[in-house]
Amino acid sequence: METKRTIACPQCGEKTVWSDDNESRPFCSPRCKNTDFIAWANEEQKISEDNDYTDFMSEDTMNQLQ
Ligand SMILES: [Zn+2]
Repeated sequence: METKRTIACPQCGEKTVWSDDNESRPFCSPRCKNTDFIAWANEEQKISEDNDYTDFMSEDTMNQLQ
């Protein structure tokens, strides 16, 4: 008896079959895969903005110490 392993798509939560035929795994579809990539890219963008802010704060702290 063959049991198909199903996983929940990380993007939309839809149950999808984990198989070699599913090129989008662990996502249910290429659409979810791309959406997750865009979200990841946006997150990277946010992180770099935070770093700029931290740099600014550090500079400000340095000025106060002088
Ligand atoms: Zn999905």
